[in-house]
Amino acid sequence: MDKKKMVALVAHDNMKRDLAEWVDWNCSILATHPLVCTGTTGKIVEKTLRNHNDPYCDAERLNIHLLKSGPLGGDQQLGSMIVGGQISALIFFCDPMAAQPHDVDVKALLRLASLYNVPTAVNRATADFIISSPLFFDPDYEPAVKDYKSYVERVLA
Ligand code: PGA
Repeated sequence: MDKKKMVALVAHDNMKRDLAEWVDWNCSILATHPLVCTGTTGKIVEKTLRNHNDPYCDAERLNIHLLKSGPLGGDQQLGSMIVGGQISALIFFCDPMAAQPHDVDVKALLRLASLYNVPTAVNRATADFIISSPLFFDPDYEPAVKDYKSYVERVLA
């Protein structure tokens, strides 16, 4: 099984330029990982990685999956992937200055990331910390997830 970490990338509209810059800067690392993005973010990420001149950023090996656009359900799709244990890191450049029509979806996504202990960055500095952590490159690192069996049993009792 390929143990390469799947990285989820999302940016609110006003933050897409920042994410593109961050992706550009980290292209040689990101291009070696499977990526999943909400729709519009994904198009920008893909273009950024494909147009890169860095010889270590091999566009041929690019493995990127685009979901629906965030406001059209992409954040919920990503949440479902977190529940399915498919996401190893979530990089979400959130806009702290603008209300989002799909705010509840964003909250739900971040709640699931918290519940399933997915390393999550909602700003660039944290994204830098995640991508430069030795654990990011450790295929055997598994974040501990609490066992909620007793919660289910209590509800069913
Ligand atoms: P988008 O969605 O990448 O389709 O713009 C991002 C978001 O959740 O706002």
